Amino acid sequence: MPPKKTFAMVLTDKRCLEPRDLPIPDLTDDTAILRVETCGICGTDYEQFQGVLGAQTPTIPGHEPIGTIDAIGDKAAERWGVTVGDRVAVENIVSCRFCPPCLAGKSQLCHNRRIYAFVRLTEGHGLWGAYSQYMVLHGNTVVHRIDATLPAPLAALFNPLGAGYRWAVEMPRTKPGDTVLILGPGQRGLASVLAAKEAGASQVIITGLTVDRRKLALAREFGADTAIDVEEEDLTARVAELTDGRGADVVLEVTSYSTQPVTDALDVVSQGGTVILAGMKGFRSIPDFVSDKIVLNEITLRGAIGVTSSAYRSAIRLIESHSKPLEKMHTHDFRLPDAELAIRTLAREVEGEDAIHCCLNPEH
Ligand SMILES: [Zn+2]
Ligand SMILES: [Zn+2]
Repeated sequence: MPPKKTFAMVLTDKRCLEPRDLPIPDLTDDTAILRVETCGICGTDYEQFQGVLGAQTPTIPGHEPIGTIDAIGDKAAERWGVTVGDRVAVENIVSCRFCPPCLAGKSQLCHNRRIYAFVRLTEGHGLWGAYSQYMVLHGNTVVHRIDATLPAPLAALFNPLGAGYRWAVEMPRTKPGDTVLILGPGQRGLASVLAAKEAGASQVIITGLTVDRRKLALAREFGADTAIDVEEEDLTARVAELTDGRGADVVLEVTSYSTQPVTDALDVVSQGGTVILAGMKGFRSIPDFVSDKIVLNEITLRGAIGVTSSAYRSAIRLIESHSKPLEKMHTHDFRLPDAELAIRTLAREVEGEDAIHCCLNPEH
């Protein structure tokens, strides 16, 4: 049984994380208590920390949990098919299951959705985030059992990898023989290389800055055919050369803040091709965005935010297969009280650190 209290880091204001001891509520029939083993950190954690997402505080951040079921109500156990002691990967969107998007199979767009880490501490039991030793899993949570023998940070890669499968394969319907161009070599860019290759893409190209040298090298190791340093090379000319002037069938944009890659995407996608935009730009407009290019070339343009259960399952299958050196993506581990350092390290605010994937570990 879980203890009565949990240690957690609470975001009380912009760039302000405070340690707290919080009560753990009694278990109900349709919920579970998760003992958090680790929590992956991504660019969204940084945006939340910076206060640019418009999210309310106070909240317990942490939307990428891996943990062990510490206690579970009978109804939840029956629904989820898991029991005490099982290790699970937790999907961060909790949908209602009855609104129009949910009924249409688009639960990531649920009108009543809640996202772990973005529900205020003052709502109900308050334990809605994984920057905590324990969190409460709502009855509509989707959990996936995952091999308990894996190192926890490796298991935590289910999150970026899930995004790779959905954004680089499921959404653009990538098929064997396609050329896939990925703009941005962060966690999700690297994951997209793996997913696109597995889908049979004959050519995967990834871009980055000079400072991304380590990530671009890893992308090559993960199967990327070409890595382009956009500060050294002319992106449009290089893609034209690599595709006999046709452009890429699929272009995925996963950079954060920079608007240039969005403009670039329309110049390097093939006629009839698909552009998926998944990098947030802080609600800035895109200079030199020429919509006629979309019209004249019949480009499909889609935004991507959520990850489907099927994509998460593909990610977990890849992790459990041990077929790729995924551990090379994971670069940093931090103790829970050092959450701020973890976020700043991932965001390159800490000099000398070259992070790709960071984890927060409550137990260490
Ligand atoms: Zn995330
Ligand atoms: Zn719904």
